[in-house]
Amino acid sequence: MFPVPNSLSPSRVQSFLSCPMAFRFASIEKLPEPPSVHTTRGSLVHRALELLFMLEPSARTNAAAQLSLDTAFAEYQTNAEYTELGLTEAQSRVFFGESSSLVDAYFAIEDPTSIREIGLELRLEAAVGGLTLRGIIDRLELDADGELVVTDYKTGRAPSAKYEQSSLSGVHFYSFLCHAVLGRRPSKIRLMYLKSGDIIELAPTEQSVRAVVTRTTAVWKAVEKACLKNDFQPRTSGLCNSCTFKTWCPAFGGDPSKAAAEIPRPLATVAAS
Ligand code: SF4
Repeated sequence: MFPVPNSLSPSRVQSFLSCPMAFRFASIEKLPEPPSVHTTRGSLVHRALELLFMLEPSARTNAAAQLSLDTAFAEYQTNAEYTELGLTEAQSRVFFGESSSLVDAYFAIEDPTSIREIGLELRLEAAVGGLTLRGIIDRLELDADGELVVTDYKTGRAPSAKYEQSSLSGVHFYSFLCHAVLGRRPSKIRLMYLKSGDIIELAPTEQSVRAVVTRTTAVWKAVEKACLKNDFQPRTSGLCNSCTFKTWCPAFGGDPSKAAAEIPRPLATVAAS
């Protein structure tokens, strides 16, 4: 039996739906996962765009964005998310170059001088029953009519039509949080794929906001049941190839009960626990 978590975020909901066993390792047992180049690059580019939007609108040039990236990269030199990648100097240059291209590509999608942002990396949380739902909105802005717009930057590929709906489930979560915390439903939610220049937009409805509560409550009940019965099933997929916990996964002959003892934890985590 595991303790039942009392909060959920869009990524945790998605993680449980993708593979309950991986969710158990990462979110219930809180076993560390090494950072990946892909996720760290995404975090770095998000930080650079956050710094860009902290400037006056007229100062948000491409050159300023590259300076913001320099600042963000300097911050990351002491961030475990970057240092644990263990990049060589040459790999680090490639990493920075790819990040710079993503920041550059952003300017082909929109003009940042025209954006009226009212929140950056905005942390919102709302209670639903005994559960806290929380999420971080990359950028919240007002459109020309004064309506709320949520923008979510994506540094990976845009999903195929088949997976488009599941990629939108997280942003529906944001519209619920805006409604619950700010008392207003956004008129639009935008997923901005920097690499390809694709934008997926949707207009949340009262029904879509209600559906977030229904869906998340159902996932939380399933999490609760899995915790109480210690019954987290593995769900194999293409994600298994990059899964940190594959060695301990029963779907691959592993013993999940050994993971906590065998996965080394960073010293800071050990000291705090
Ligand atoms: S290896 Fe696959 S099935 Fe096993 S925990 Fe990881 S993602 Fe889940």
